[in-house]
Amino acid sequence: MPIIFDNTDSSNKEVFSAKRVGNKVLVRFTNNGKEYSYSDQRIKVIKEADSGSAEADNLVIPLYALDHNCWKCGYSIQIPTYINYESHLEPLKFPWDRVRLNKEKSDTEQLLHVFTDAGIEYYPVSVVGQNPGLDQLLAEQNPVLVDKAKMRKRETSRMPGYPYLAAHCPRCKVVQGWFPSVYYQINRVISVDEELPIVGSVELKRDSINSIGPGNTVEELWSYIPTS
Ligand SMILES: [Zn+2]
Repeated sequence: MPIIFDNTDSSNKEVFSAKRVGNKVLVRFTNNGKEYSYSDQRIKVIKEADSGSAEADNLVIPLYALDHNCWKCGYSIQIPTYINYESHLEPLKFPWDRVRLNKEKSDTEQLLHVFTDAGIEYYPVSVVGQNPGLDQLLAEQNPVLVDKAKMRKRETSRMPGYPYLAAHCPRCKVVQGWFPSVYYQINRVISVDEELPIVGSVELKRDSINSIGPGNTVEELWSYIPTS
C-alpha cells in the first residue's frame, strides 16, 4: 500500500514506508533505500504503514509475460520477466512512468538510441537476465518457469560472463536469447504504452532484499550487445 506524506516544503509524496517513533517519522522512499528521519513537525503522514506488517517486510515483484515467437521453430511462447527500475529493486507498474524513467536515465542511456538502429528510446530498467540474484530466486520460486528457463553460463563472447536466466522454447528447446532482446522488447512496450499481462511474482523477504543488489546496469552490459 502506498504511503503518502505531506512534506511542508513540497507537495504530497508517495513513499515506500513511514513509521512513527516518538516525535520522529522514519521514511523510506524505496524498498531497500536509506531510512530518513524527519521531525513530525515537518511532515504529516496521511496514510501510515502498520509496523511489522507483512507488506513492510516483503517485497512482491510482479512477473510480466512478453509474447515471443521462437526464433528457430516459430512456436508462440511467453517469456516471463521482472521490470524494475535499474538503480534499485522497485518494480515498474503500468502505466509506465516515463517521466520518472527519463529523469533517472544516465548520460549514456540518454544517447543509447543514437548507437543502434532500433528507433526506440532506451529506459533505465532491469529485466530478466540482468540481476543474477533475482534470477536465481525467480528460478527457485517459480517451478513452472524452471521448465522454460535455466541458469546458463557464458558460452559465446556475446553472452555475459555470469550465469543468467534465459527462456527456452518448450517445443524445440532452443534458448531464446538473453538480456538484449528482452531489454529491447520491454523498452518498445514502455515507449508505446502497452500493458503487459502479469503471470506470477517473485516474493522477497526482508533478509534477501538486503542481499540482492539492483543488478547490472545497462552501461555495464552494453559491451555485450551487438551493435549495427
Ligand atoms: Zn522452438
